[in-house]
Amino acid sequence: MKVSKSDYYRNEMDIQYQPPGALQLGVGLGLVEYIPYQIRNSFVSLLSLLRPKATTDLKRRKFPIDDLADELDPTTAEKREFWEKEFGVIITHDVDTKEGYRFGLSKFVEMEQEMDMVSTFNIVPDSFEYKIDPDFIASLVHDGFDIGMHGLHHDGKFAFLTEEEQRERISRAAECAKNLKLPSIGYRAPWLHRTKRMVQYLTETGYDWDSSFPDTDDSTIGYASTGSRTIFPFYPLYRKEGGWIQSSLVEIPVSMPQDWTLLYYYKLSEESILRVWKKKMEYIKSRGGLAGFILHPDQEDFGHPKHHRAYKALLKIIQDADPELLTCSDLARRWKKKFPPS
Ligand SMILES: [Zn+2]
Repeated sequence: MKVSKSDYYRNEMDIQYQPPGALQLGVGLGLVEYIPYQIRNSFVSLLSLLRPKATTDLKRRKFPIDDLADELDPTTAEKREFWEKEFGVIITHDVDTKEGYRFGLSKFVEMEQEMDMVSTFNIVPDSFEYKIDPDFIASLVHDGFDIGMHGLHHDGKFAFLTEEEQRERISRAAECAKNLKLPSIGYRAPWLHRTKRMVQYLTETGYDWDSSFPDTDDSTIGYASTGSRTIFPFYPLYRKEGGWIQSSLVEIPVSMPQDWTLLYYYKLSEESILRVWKKKMEYIKSRGGLAGFILHPDQEDFGHPKHHRAYKALLKIIQDADPELLTCSDLARRWKKKFPPS
């Protein structure tokens, strides 16, 4: 297929992912699994200081707003009409740690249920931290919550694996989703580490949706200044046999800065974090786009009881903005119906 300028940016064709050597070393030695989560955050903050100084070449995305692909895309006006309200919101939670799975998750569920809201939990199907209880997952699905696969393991190794190993992990995670009888098969790349082959393997394995592309990412190590430059779901492209193929999976961009980024990279107060989220969400509302959140139920992030009040305040801010609140499964299904993949 012919690639337009908006496709070019949306699919990060101008970007070479560069997971850094220092991280690779840590991952290779298995260090990352043993570094306590909180220190791991400072470890990554530290790495961020070591990244090369920004040059015009490296500064490829603006932060926190960059929707150039939408500006260039003639179908953006049509996409704005998708929502039943003025805009859409997806709340996702990546369950990275044992405490996140055991405590933070249920607390998020409780707070959201109090506000009559739902979210999507991305769980690690073969985690070194926790073991999934299928009955617990079934009860969440029964209550209207959604579940995606957060990779197969959360060891930070994905981007360094061979293509066959990448395919294998993606396919094993899909098997786990099928065994859990989830409403859809969805994916969130651990650490948002994407590779040039990831979309192809997800598509060929039969995933319904993926949510691993930020609209603009300022801080993920090796992926800083990357992003799909869109605040709308899209069908990503992948390269095969010299041509570009459009995936049948719906890519749900992560268009809101993560709790982790604001807490550890920008070191903001809760008040400032809430202000950043509110401002960006208002911008997305004015464009009729999708605000896609990631908040971690882990103790180091918004899952810690000390942040629960701020989380409730965020839920209230979202509710007051009056969006259409969707799960990833619902969005993927409805998006495919309204805009079928070609
Ligand atoms: Zn994660």
